[in-house]
Amino acid sequence: MLKDAVASTTPSATLANTGLTPWHNELSWIGNSLEFCQLTKKALHTTPTYLGALRCKEEGDPSAMATSLKVAVVGAGVAGLIAARELQRESHQVVVFEKSHRLGGTWAYDPRVESDLLGLDQNREIIHGSLYKSLRTNLPRQLMSFTDFKFSDKTYGDERLFPGHEEVLKFLEDFAGSFEVTELIRFNTAVTRVELVDSDIIEFEVESKTNGVNAVEVFDAVVVCNGHNSEPRPAFDIPGIETWSKKQMHSHNYHVPEPFRDQIVVLIGNGPTALDLSREIATVAKEVHMSSRSPAPYAKVSKSQKFSNIWQHAKIDCINKDGTITFEDGISIDAYIIFHCTGYKSHVPFLKTNGIVSVQEKRIGPLYKLVFPPQLAPRLSFVGLPEKSLTFLIIECQSKWIAKTLSTKISLPSKDQMLRDIKEHHGDIEDDGFPKAYTHFLEIENDYIDWMSTQLEMNVDKKFTDMFKYLIHCFRSGNFDNFMNLFELKYGV
Ligand SMILES: Cc1cc2nc3c(=O)[nH]c(=O)nc-3n(C[C@H](O)[C@H](O)[C@H](O)COP(=O)(O)OP(=O)(O)OC[C@H]3O[C@@H](n4cnc5c(N)ncnc54)[C@H](O)[C@@H]3O)c2cc1C
Repeated sequence: MLKDAVASTTPSATLANTGLTPWHNELSWIGNSLEFCQLTKKALHTTPTYLGALRCKEEGDPSAMATSLKVAVVGAGVAGLIAARELQRESHQVVVFEKSHRLGGTWAYDPRVESDLLGLDQNREIIHGSLYKSLRTNLPRQLMSFTDFKFSDKTYGDERLFPGHEEVLKFLEDFAGSFEVTELIRFNTAVTRVELVDSDIIEFEVESKTNGVNAVEVFDAVVVCNGHNSEPRPAFDIPGIETWSKKQMHSHNYHVPEPFRDQIVVLIGNGPTALDLSREIATVAKEVHMSSRSPAPYAKVSKSQKFSNIWQHAKIDCINKDGTITFEDGISIDAYIIFHCTGYKSHVPFLKTNGIVSVQEKRIGPLYKLVFPPQLAPRLSFVGLPEKSLTFLIIECQSKWIAKTLSTKISLPSKDQMLRDIKEHHGDIEDDGFPKAYTHFLEIENDYIDWMSTQLEMNVDKKFTDMFKYLIHCFRSGNFDNFMNLFELKYGV
């Protein structure tokens, strides 16, 4: 066991003597989810029956008049803003409910910390945002644009290709102002209940609270844009973790590295936040020990080439009675803090659909193309669920699809066809041994965007999808510390 050696000597000396492997390619999550992308391609994207399902109402058809509906949009983040614009373009009457005093959602940085650092206390006041102070985007601004309102054409003080979060918020405020979306937003108004009205037609009661005052209104349709990066999903399936008496926190409550000064930290996770924050806390911490359980367990511990105080370990095996943490690579660490960079749960607490839509292990479903629950389509829809992909572009496509479907310019397949499509998608995920939590992952798979844009007869410039592929290539061929520089060599000004 290295436990004693690690505790008694400097970490670098200890590990150097063990003949451990060099630092792994830290972005294993990208490589390993390629296989997953193949399966999503199978079911989620390639359903030729539905390709070309775009059916504009023909002249002479008695229902040729586009329908204008009263639509509630929950949330004024990226998804809510673009959904509102697209609905308005289709002449729907739109109300956007936003619980905060400002728009932008995730991108409206909030420096407050929740009372429960792991987010387990259901009665805590939930802080929506999960950004940390130093955060820069991990996509270049070209890939955080809308098709007719480009972030790359605008700067608001931070001209970097991968700008700080403040720049994204200014871009969203500019977008909302330019398309008169701001006026549609009811700020400081939290939706507390969306419930199916018991009647022959599908409509919803929307209950909201503004400064302590409740209101109930009926809407023809509801578009859920409440975001999915606010409810921490800590790694609590580690034997012994519930009784560990030292400090634990989730990245949702991280803002600055100072609390980690001189500490020995075990950081769980291997996504972009884990990688980014490991570097940031390593500037002040004594040691940072990263551990990841998926997708690829590390057989041996390895040391960062760039940071002498970061190690990558295998999955945590257990937490021992004496408080030490043992990894599957055989090493034990006496850490002061466990830092969970393990992502978020899906969360739609206000939705009451008599079980038609449910949340299971991060999967919201059943949802056709991750947007429409077949039994309530198109009156209920979700925007922004796909992860690890071109979020802004996908949100724009989904919003256009919803708006045009509600105005009956686009038809959906039958309920049974949609359910079959979903079953196939879910079945493929399960058959291939992936957890339900992977339901919303798309990553570099562009077929979803192709499918959506075909529905919409919308031209998506191939240069954006090529650029995204190149970004992924930069992740893989360099390493996390260098991917922005590599990308800028080709696409920087
Ligand atoms: C740390 C971090 C880094 C990221 N980096 C990038 C990046 O570099 N590039 C990228 O493209 N994406 C990135 N993302 C993903 C990011 O989440 C999306 O870009 C985008 O912000 C998602 O927008 P959204 O509208 O779906 O959700 P959100 O931005 O979360 O907005 C949801 C809105 O709904 C409101 N709301 C929620 N519940 C209610 C309610 N009951 N009633 C009324 N209002 C409600 C919230 O207040 C909020 O304003 C990152 C995410 C995180 C957490």
